[in-house]
Amino acid sequence: MVDRVVKRFGGITAVNKVSLSLEAGRIYGLIGPNGSGKTTLFNCITGIDQVDEGQIRFKGQRIDGLKPHQIFHLGIGRTFQVIRVFPELTALENLLVVTTGDFAAARARAEELLGFVKLERLAGEYAGNLSYGQQKLVEFTRVLMTDPELILLDEPAAGVNRTLLNELLEAVRKLRDSGKTVLLVEHDMKVVMGLCETVFVLDHGEKLAEGPPGVIQTDERVIEAYFGR
Ligand code: ADP
Ligand code: MG
Repeated sequence: MVDRVVKRFGGITAVNKVSLSLEAGRIYGLIGPNGSGKTTLFNCITGIDQVDEGQIRFKGQRIDGLKPHQIFHLGIGRTFQVIRVFPELTALENLLVVTTGDFAAARARAEELLGFVKLERLAGEYAGNLSYGQQKLVEFTRVLMTDPELILLDEPAAGVNRTLLNELLEAVRKLRDSGKTVLLVEHDMKVVMGLCETVFVLDHGEKLAEGPPGVIQTDERVIEAYFGR
């Protein structure tokens, strides 16, 4: 679906002819050193950045060139590396901000999703009073409000304590089991190893390697570019 995508910022080529093929019902990892183009690739897929070359297709349709809200409505949801919740709204309200239309149905869905990550107890708590990890779970469940088919997670495990991390990993696996596709940027190799079926490695904007996490971890070029630092 990502086909030889190039994204430049002035003289920097942040993403250089990267292709990713994603199958439904799988969890993919996107790894690489800082500055290797991971977030930029997410921004290209979600329409925040316009690609300079290449194509992005989703469900048979070209989506490069579409606006972020159009891509979102086609069924691609994402979280951000820097957390984006509304601290002055409750956890529940943070999920309700994305809804249009049937409020009762949205509320039921929001409550179900908070239960999905075991945060139902904190539904009425202001998001600003939640721990960092709890806020990340709120952001994660908000992405699920519209039932996206492809979910992009930018460093979901960073700064999340072990208990909450287990809730998150469990939730991601359940999504996969229900046929959703997940692409996640993650530095914690234990998380990547435990979750992902296929890992893509970026280095200086280029795809350096692709394969099962066990194979990727022993790839010499990957070790040099990433693990060896
Ligand atoms: P990663 O997420 O892998 O750490 P990024 O995608 O954030 O990497 O960045 C890739 C490269 O693109 C870096 O050199 C970064 O400085 C550059 N870059 C990213 N976004 C912008 C932008 N909006 N303007 C200029 N340069 C950018
Ligand atoms: Mg990043």
